[in-house]
Amino acid sequence: LYIESDLADGAVVGLSPDHAHFLRSVLRLEPGRWVTLFNGRDGEWSARIDGIGKGWASLAVGTRLREQSASPDVWLYFAPIKRARLDFLVQKATELGVGRIQPVVTQRTIVERVKGERLSANVIEASEQCERLDLPEIGDPMRLDKALADHPADRTLVACVEFGDARPVVEVVSTLPAGAPVTLLIGPEGGFTPEERTLLETRENVRFAGLGPRILRAETAGLAALTVWQALAGD
Ligand code: SAM
Repeated sequence: LYIESDLADGAVVGLSPDHAHFLRSVLRLEPGRWVTLFNGRDGEWSARIDGIGKGWASLAVGTRLREQSASPDVWLYFAPIKRARLDFLVQKATELGVGRIQPVVTQRTIVERVKGERLSANVIEASEQCERLDLPEIGDPMRLDKALADHPADRTLVACVEFGDARPVVEVVSTLPAGAPVTLLIGPEGGFTPEERTLLETRENVRFAGLGPRILRAETAGLAALTVWQALAGD
């Protein structure tokens, strides 16, 4: 379970009402039983349930089970899509080890408002499920030109595009130095505009990658690119 409190031997921590309900009413756990906790900073710890009731639980932190680990350095920049598919993309990207999730508003982006707390809830739920100990960072929505201007120079931006002379994503990613920081960029349902293509083409450290001959939905493209990256990165 993810909690925000610091984790240290002998600490006493409380759970959110949702987590308390999950332990008490779904898993039917009683005092004396053990669970594992992580907070995204201090690694994974065992904790014993000392008290539990309707909407509350008190746990005594025991021993550290795993040191804090960082995910591989891959970021996902994507044009926001509709809610259910956005939830799916964020959860699967978290499972695939993404380090940063950055909504990027492009000229053809339909969905402009992205609820940060909804993205956080998806990230926490997926991190608990896949037992990763670090939480992906979530950026506030940013326009494409600003996202490119702010993009760190030492990162390679791999723009997934279904047009032009994009090379297969496996070839693009495999030519990058092992462990090199990578950002994968996925466009909106309507694709990038010609101006945006020019903006990308004139930027340093941008590669264009193809994901096969078919036009993929944005969430499919994001997951396909992340899967290829993770398979090659081996993390
Ligand atoms: N531009 C397409 C159109 O006009 O129908 C649709 C864009 S597609 C639904 C959404 C995004 O997924 C694209 O902007 C691109 O980033 C990515 N994508 C989809 N299919 C792809 C492919 N075969 N290769 C690389 N990227 C792809």
